[in-house]
Amino acid sequence: MITIAFWFVLGLVLAKCAAQLWLDHLNRQYVRAHADTVPAAFRDIIDEPTYAKSVKYTLAKNRLARIETSYNATLLLIILSSGVLPWGFRLFMSWLGPSVWASAAFLFTVGVVLTLPGLPLEWYHQFRLEQRFGFNTTTQRLWWLDRLKGLLLGLALGYPLLVLVLKLVEWTGGWWWLWAWGTLLAFQLLMLVVAPVLILPLFNKFTPLPEGGLRERLFNLAARTRFHARSIQVMDGSKRSRHSNAFFTGFGGFRKIVLFDTLIQQLAEPELEAVLAHEIGHFKKKHITKTLLLSALGSLAGFFIISLLAKQEWFYGAFGFTPGPLAPALLLFGLLSGLVTFWFSPLAHWWSRRHEFQADAFAAEVMNEPGPLIGALRKLNEKNLSNLTPHPAYSRFYYSHPTLLERERALQGQRVRRPRLLRPCSS
Ligand SMILES: [Zn+2]
Repeated sequence: MITIAFWFVLGLVLAKCAAQLWLDHLNRQYVRAHADTVPAAFRDIIDEPTYAKSVKYTLAKNRLARIETSYNATLLLIILSSGVLPWGFRLFMSWLGPSVWASAAFLFTVGVVLTLPGLPLEWYHQFRLEQRFGFNTTTQRLWWLDRLKGLLLGLALGYPLLVLVLKLVEWTGGWWWLWAWGTLLAFQLLMLVVAPVLILPLFNKFTPLPEGGLRERLFNLAARTRFHARSIQVMDGSKRSRHSNAFFTGFGGFRKIVLFDTLIQQLAEPELEAVLAHEIGHFKKKHITKTLLLSALGSLAGFFIISLLAKQEWFYGAFGFTPGPLAPALLLFGLLSGLVTFWFSPLAHWWSRRHEFQADAFAAEVMNEPGPLIGALRKLNEKNLSNLTPHPAYSRFYYSHPTLLERERALQGQRVRRPRLLRPCSS
């Protein structure tokens, strides 16, 4: 029987799908309208052939995104309406008996099976689209190996975590959601320390940045900004893609700065210093702590909502489950929460873009001038064939970073204050 709750979810699926397709449509029109010549604002930055290529790349990604959106929405509707989930749950319960281990096995299996339909599109993205624009450096072997490693990691880490969360319901009763949240939080904090040491090296090789001018320059910057970093590492990002990046991992004494080898190839030394200054800016302005806190609050709300839904017979009934066990509520929440959080993404991205502006300003201040950062941003946009003219509604919805033009304007508009005397760090 189709209930109101089911119709409501159906409406949410269609609304999200329609909004995504509409945003893609707007963006496509906007990019096409600017496609003929390089817009005046970018004439000094990018040459005609590279601009034309970036337009083609954007349109190709847009096409794939539209296919993906329709495909995913159709798939979700089939999964929800076919009754395959409650059928699978009953199957697991009758095979393995109604235990926490069986429930967790069901959730894990569904999680794995649901990634399968997306594989062809992911494959196409890497080996057709990225390949065509010269970004792909991944081999078939490496690509499949990555997926296999991901699966094994999920089994080693995700499955025990699921068992633990479900066990908490037995152990702690009505307040299970608070305990589950605490457990997840502890796990995430542990991963912050463990991942750089044990997990990232499974996928990439990290080598210390060799002695020399660049290393000296970057450690100098770290000292000037009193940013304690244990080491600066180079990651072989070129093994998979020509896209470039920089980040730091871990916290406290475990902190490591990581530069992609592709980034080092693309940027001049002062530009690399500016990029690192930007990253340090995120740290100094406490963006990382704030983001962690916000995500912790988000998952607290999530667990609370699951605990409420787990008591609602209509919720189970709407999707063909028998009320009682927690696993179906966890699964449905996992499948459906994105339909709601999608509408909050402009807010989350607005917050993130604000952080980017602040980190840019920090970088310009410690570099005494915005020039190197602007140079770096221009090169990165050019090398990554970024869309220089996204539709404003599209970028507001999807962009976690301001566009090149917005960042340049903010950097140039900002009066660079006289250098503040920053004491070098003692250690
Ligand atoms: Zn940033």
